[in-house]
Amino acid sequence: MEASQEQLLKEYNTYLELIDGELHLEGVSLKKLADELGTPLYVYSASYIRDRIRAYKEAFPNALICYAVKANFNPEVVRVASEEGAGADIVSGGELLAAIKGGVNPKKIVYAGVGKTVPELELAVEKEILMFNVESRDELFVLNDIAGRLGKKARIAIRVNPDVDPKTHPYISTGMKKSKFGVNFETAKEEYRLARELENLEVVGIHCHIGSQLLDVSPYREAVEKVVGLYRELTEEGFDIRYIDIGGGLGIKYKPEDREPSPKDLAEVVMPILEGVEAQIILEPGRSITGNAGLLISQVQFLKDKEIKHFIIVDAGMNDLVRPAIYDAYHHIVPVESKGRKHVIADIVGPICETGDFLAKDRRIEWLERGEYIAVLSAGAYGFAMASHYNIRPRPAEVLVEKGSYRVIRERESYEYIFNPK
Ligand SMILES: *Cc1c(COP(=O)(O)O)cnc(C)c1O
Repeated sequence: MEASQEQLLKEYNTYLELIDGELHLEGVSLKKLADELGTPLYVYSASYIRDRIRAYKEAFPNALICYAVKANFNPEVVRVASEEGAGADIVSGGELLAAIKGGVNPKKIVYAGVGKTVPELELAVEKEILMFNVESRDELFVLNDIAGRLGKKARIAIRVNPDVDPKTHPYISTGMKKSKFGVNFETAKEEYRLARELENLEVVGIHCHIGSQLLDVSPYREAVEKVVGLYRELTEEGFDIRYIDIGGGLGIKYKPEDREPSPKDLAEVVMPILEGVEAQIILEPGRSITGNAGLLISQVQFLKDKEIKHFIIVDAGMNDLVRPAIYDAYHHIVPVESKGRKHVIADIVGPICETGDFLAKDRRIEWLERGEYIAVLSAGAYGFAMASHYNIRPRPAEVLVEKGSYRVIRERESYEYIFNPK
């Protein structure tokens, strides 16, 4: 029993282990962290993030790996990725600043997003980022004006919508015709021809991103085939396409039965299609870099039995981790201290006044007492990044562990911060 539990933990993150029944991440006791720093608490493993960037670099030796900052924007998390040579994929001005704070060279930053504002575009033009992944004709004109005004040239790719069904949750499926993202594949060439006429833009790339949490890599085949087709047509028309950006989206293990595709699995599908393509490949992984690097520790507040249900009420809610509430997402949850007690079926819920405020439903878990800690796995991406103050709950602290030591990379928020943000 213990052995298989250990094995399962390692499948989530190789740096997770049980020492005398107590959960550790990179050699750091999570109980000790929670006792010292309080809960809810996000904890991330730096070595895991490093390993993931390296795995991408090994699978795609000549590619630029642009970590998708939106998955986890803590500048110290970004720094770990940038130390491994990663660039950044951003979707806002704030993320541009987070990337720069995290040590990313602007020459390695790509910027997507359907609703970039003038101040955001100005900031990115001034920083001379590698490439704007433009999502509409209007944006081409606005960016051209801004670049002209600032006396710069903006390098652009057009985000094309290859109309591929990534077979993931509809809310994180982004490459289908009906989606708001990108421009239609059929009309993309018209946008390219237009962009070429705009004097402050330099057309350098093609971008696509078909969705998130893809556990099956086959939809990438169709998307990349289409993009390479467009690349050849544009090259024939005299465009100098130097970058093919195939986005992010590789899925991770959330459920015990999930099999997580590796960067190598992705490379095996797309590299043959990219044979003979001169352009540099860009990837934008987010979740698959930080998702299983991190977990959320929460403390059991109360236990409650209602006729048909056992509830474990914890101090982390949908304001801390919203994925279960909005995507009905599964997060594996384990006690921080396993004591070999009997198991129960329980709903693990937060303190927020919403029925949608749950971390797990009808979950089989070891009997837990008030005051004990749980670890919510796979919470390193789209966890803190989507946290809010709903119900006036200060956002949690964040800790980075590496090789047996730890560092607080964001203090727990105070009420003063919420009431009087400076
Ligand atoms: C969200 C996003 C990503 C990252 O997606 P993951 O599923 O976290 O890898 C990459 N590129 C763009 C344009 C995105 O919007």
